[in-house]
This record gives sequence, C-alpha cells and structure tokens, in this order.
Amino acid sequence: MIEVRGVHKSFGHLEVLKGIDLTVAAGSVTVILGPSGSGKSTLLRVINHLEKVDRGHVRVDGELIGYRQHGTKLYELRERQILEQRRGIGFVFQTFNLFPHLTALQNVTEAMRGPREAVHRKALERLERVGLADKAASYPRQLSGGQQQRVAIARALALDPKLVLFDEPTSALDPELVGEVLDVMRDLAAAGTTMIVVTHEIGFAREVADTIVFLDEGRLIEQGTPAEVLDSPKHDRTRAFLSKVL
Ligand code: ATP
Ligand code: MG
Repeated sequence: MIEVRGVHKSFGHLEVLKGIDLTVAAGSVTVILGPSGSGKSTLLRVINHLEKVDRGHVRVDGELIGYRQHGTKLYELRERQILEQRRGIGFVFQTFNLFPHLTALQNVTEAMRGPREAVHRKALERLERVGLADKAASYPRQLSGGQQQRVAIARALALDPKLVLFDEPTSALDPELVGEVLDVMRDLAAAGTTMIVVTHEIGFAREVADTIVFLDEGRLIEQGTPAEVLDSPKHDRTRAFLSKVL
C-alpha cells in the first residue's frame, strides 16, 4: 500500500503541491488526470524521492520514503539508502530514457544483481512479458518508439518493484504505437501490479483504473471510480478538463 500524507512541495515561491493525501491499495491502478502544470509529474517524483517534500511524507508498504524517523523528527536517508529504496519502485518516463549504447536486454539487466545466468534469464522473461524477446539484441535506435517504451517497461519491472509509476508513457508516441504500450500496461494491471499512471488516455483510464484522481493547481480536487469521476464529476474544473480531452 502507498500512503501519501499532507505532501507540500514548492519550487522557490511557486507552491506546486498544496497538501496531497492519496492512498493506493496494493495491486490497484490509480490514474492521475490534470491540466499541464497542475503538479502530476512532481507528485510522481515525490513518491520515489526524486524530489524532496517540504512537508508531509510518503510510505510504501509502511516504509517511509527518503527519511527515517527518530522521535517526532525526520532525517533524510543517505544517498545509498535512497537508491536502495528506489530499486523497489519502477519509473516509466514519457521519453523512454533507455541507454542508447546498450541493447534492449542490457537495458533491462543494467540494475539487476545476482548470478549472470539468472539475471539473463529473468531479463529475457521480462522482455517476453512485453512481447519483445526477439528484440533482445537490438539497440534503442533500431526499435520503434512503442518498442522502446515496452523495453523501458520491462526495465521498470526488472527488480520486482512494489510499485510502478508511469509519467505520460504514451504521449511521445505516434498515435498508431500507443495501443501496443497500453496493451502491455493493461496486462500488468491484470497481473496485479500496483500502478500509478499519469495519462490523458481516458479510454485506458476508464477501462483499467480502480481509482481516478484529478489534480488541479496542486490539489487533489476529485477522486473516485472511473464512472464517478468521468461520468459525474463534482467539480467544474474536472468537467472543463474532461470536455477538452474526451
Ligand atoms: P505537464 O502535464 O505539463 O507534464 P505536470 O502536471 O506534470 O504538467 P509538473 O511538471 O509537476 O506539472 O510541474 C508543476 C509546476 O512546477 C510547473 O509550473 C513547473 O514549471 C514547476 N516545476 C516543476 N519542476 C520544477 C523544478 N525542478 N524547478 C522549478 N519549477 C518546477
Ligand atoms: Mg508532467
């Protein structure tokens, strides 16, 4: 279970997250909707401590992210401990972020530990899950955008994460390549992967999300099932946003 509690985050004078509370059950899919600049990426980055919070905290399976608690005070963890925590949280970016000089397989094995043989086998199994076992030896430049993003998903799954975060995973893709990436994500959801997904793909959200939250100017102003949020939004802001993307 993921618990975001009272999270505030500013960049200089700009308050980007204004007190975020969000609970994500293990095995569930949460889709975050919201206009550009509302703080969606910042919220994802806070969850794996790529951004430090100013106030509040995040817990993943009870473990405080980025900090340890001593009495009532929080102390930031050392870089090495933060990296260790991040190994339990997969992150899929809009722009894939694969290593160009590594093959698909090497991109997946890059952060894995253990005996070479076992690592290789597991990485191949991950590539199989995204339908790309036959591209194991290909370099990113030899793959389509959709294939690159599927490799990035295989890499995010490499360390058996407790949670996978997706930040607009299909918005850099040509329209005809969006479907293959959403199909992989749908499979992950069906397999019980805990996922938090920022996306404007409303069809995917309706079909796959357990919960949809709407973020506006740093606040979660609406939260509910797809039917609740998409079909009978309570806030004018949500309604205005949906009228533009639907
Ligand atoms: P988009 O849909 O365009 O991706 P978003 O909802 O993901 O938007 P964020 O990227 O979280 O929005 O940004 C929220 C606000 O915080 C924006 O005004 C952005 O310019 C600002 N911001 C984000 N990161 C930083 C940073 N590192 N330094 C300064 N300002 C930042
Ligand atoms: Mg963003």
